[in-house]
Amino acid sequence: MVEIKSFICSGFSSNVFVVRSEQNFLVDVGIGTVAKVQKYLKENDVIIDRIILTHRHYDHTADAKEMSAEIGAPLFASPSEAKALIEGDDHTIISTAFGRSMPKLDVKTLTSDSYAGFKILSTPGHTDGGISLYHPEEKILISGDTVFPSGGVGRTDLPTGNITHLKESVEKLTKIEVESLYSGHGPVVSEGAGRHIRRSLKFLEYY
Ligand SMILES: [Zn+2]
Repeated sequence: MVEIKSFICSGFSSNVFVVRSEQNFLVDVGIGTVAKVQKYLKENDVIIDRIILTHRHYDHTADAKEMSAEIGAPLFASPSEAKALIEGDDHTIISTAFGRSMPKLDVKTLTSDSYAGFKILSTPGHTDGGISLYHPEEKILISGDTVFPSGGVGRTDLPTGNITHLKESVEKLTKIEVESLYSGHGPVVSEGAGRHIRRSLKFLEYY
């Protein structure tokens, strides 16, 4: 049984998810969410095993250093995203767009293609190493900025973005059965999310 506590953020921050599964983990950290996530973890007696970053962008990773220290969990990302975060590559992290500089992070590389009952799917296009997390039994997709509800897709005009790769990634997501969608921005879709993803693919046909 998977339980997800969603911190749906507005403004500049991404959404943040506390996933309680075989292991408990956090997906993305956002901006300014450390105190509320910590409060939730304490009140519900949840210990987080790791923090998984869907991709490098500042709105998803800004507070990663603080969150990791406060909740005592290591950071993980795909190889190319981890590399940029370890180097503090402000250009591709787009911290410069926020008028900030990103501290170099201690990020471990995701080496396995599954974790805590979730499959780690490579879904490049929004960034070159973006990932999504998919739970086949419960048909849950945590999509980062690859797809959004109601047919949205991530931008491809930022550094390392690629429209062809995004199309391929979204097409891949239409081939799995998805009931609920937890994306990097916007509301959670709790049923029939496959329809939303098929609409995203349809939208991409215009490109
Ligand atoms: Zn992004």
